[in-house]
Amino acid sequence: MSTNQSFAKKIEAGLYQAARGVSKLSYPLSWEKLEVDENRSLWAAYTPDYTANSALDQTESADLCIIGGGFTGISTAYHFSVQYPNKKVILLEAKKLANGASGRNGGMMLNWVYGTGVMSDDMTHRVYSATHETIDHIEATIKKHGLDVSYRRDGCFEVFTDEQRAIEAKKEVEYLNNIGVPIQFLDADQVRQKINLQGVYGGLFDPSEGQLNGVQFIRGLKSVLEARGVKIYENSPVTKINEGKTVEVVTKSGTVNAKAIVLATNGYTGKLGYFRKSFFPLHSHVFSTPPLSEDESKKIGWAGSAGFSDDLNRISYATKTNEGHVVFGGGSNISYGYLFNSRTAYPGSPHSATAAFDDMQKTMGQYLPGTGAMKRAHMWTGTLAISLRRNCSIGVRGENKNVYYALGYSGHGVTAANMAGRIITDLYGGNMAKWQGMPFVNADFSPIPLEPFRWAGYQMMTRLTGKSPREPHR
Ligand SMILES: Cc1cc2nc3c(=O)[nH]c(=O)nc-3n(C[C@H](O)[C@H](O)[C@H](O)COP(=O)(O)OP(=O)(O)OC[C@H]3O[C@@H](n4cnc5c(N)ncnc54)[C@H](O)[C@@H]3O)c2cc1C
Repeated sequence: MSTNQSFAKKIEAGLYQAARGVSKLSYPLSWEKLEVDENRSLWAAYTPDYTANSALDQTESADLCIIGGGFTGISTAYHFSVQYPNKKVILLEAKKLANGASGRNGGMMLNWVYGTGVMSDDMTHRVYSATHETIDHIEATIKKHGLDVSYRRDGCFEVFTDEQRAIEAKKEVEYLNNIGVPIQFLDADQVRQKINLQGVYGGLFDPSEGQLNGVQFIRGLKSVLEARGVKIYENSPVTKINEGKTVEVVTKSGTVNAKAIVLATNGYTGKLGYFRKSFFPLHSHVFSTPPLSEDESKKIGWAGSAGFSDDLNRISYATKTNEGHVVFGGGSNISYGYLFNSRTAYPGSPHSATAAFDDMQKTMGQYLPGTGAMKRAHMWTGTLAISLRRNCSIGVRGENKNVYYALGYSGHGVTAANMAGRIITDLYGGNMAKWQGMPFVNADFSPIPLEPFRWAGYQMMTRLTGKSPREPHR
């Protein structure tokens, strides 16, 4: 370990200890407010005629009220309405369906769940299989309902920019193969046959992973859910939740009295007074190129595979759509941001954040020569929930055990949030055999202090170490 690395580690450990101490201090929620900005992503541009449903404007009752119309909310509505066709389900979305991270991400549909910690061989296999099944289910759902969704399923890479890490990854693949997880290790030349990436020493390749236009998927499912009787209200931000045997869910112009609710609000959940110390909302920047011609694609050497992410702390991730756009996210310190008071909207237009996008595109150009000066067609930001151990939690809480939740996917939620709907439905029905002992079911979060320590800690950590705050491995 170099002196610089050990210095960074000491800072990290010190900041983490300090965070534990000050996390006990609180400040009022009234200082924060929910902000939900427009989804300007490439994905949204492919549903130009989408019309949002009208807002809730009366008092209604429901068996289940789902708050949030992203993958978590929609997958819960989907599984719950199959399992309980006679129960009344109402979904409330602050703006439009797929307005949040589900409609603004990098599109990578990946196996595994982040932040599970060390698992036994059996649990490793079970977690992998559960995410694999979820990707199968997404694909089957698209086919079953004939949804107009752009997706691909020709595998994704995690690439290694360090020789030693590549060697370790190769050993990891041997172990995974031995326990029945079919991931491949490809050396640098083999990686380049699929995507001509420079500066990499090899990569983990999972042929079952892929890419999904989340906006088309979620908005496409709306009519399927409505045909099953699910009531969907958009432009209906929930302002207050009064727990009880019947939970009162209050919006600006209406109320739902529900026997149970689901918090499907991920990075926005703190604004409802829940999980405020469990995660911080992180703004991640993403851009896309215009559709590349076949010739241009050939020139940059993106022949096969849906996408890649790298092994660096300020992770770079990229996918290529069927329509020919290259989508690129992260890749620099400036491309990730935390805003004071856990703001959930990026102020102004992300188009004005030119420095961030320029810096990101420089990284893209280093991986894919010839792309550094390409035109950018879409630029956007999205809010994701980052927890200190990068773990998510899916469970139920409250005195009456009727407040279900799933959040904290930490940038790895396309598959996990789609899986959450199935878990919440099984939890509701007490059918937990499949999920027994899984590390993300009713998981705890490590506490993160509130303001002003949160903002100061984030700035210190990112400036001094170049890393996003993260509980060091002990
Ligand atoms: C820029 C970016 C890139 C990412 N890239 C990837 C990737 O490539 N692969 C991957 O696996 N994961 C990725 N992720 C993470 C992944 O997108 C998320 O983990 C996942 O979409 C979370 O889904 P969700 O439904 O829980 O939350 P969201 O999609 O955020 O949905 C929450 C919804 O709740 C609504 N809402 C919030 N508050 C209220 C309220 N009070 N009342 C009513 N409605 C409310 C919001 O408007 C929103 O529509 C990325 C995330 C971002 C932001």
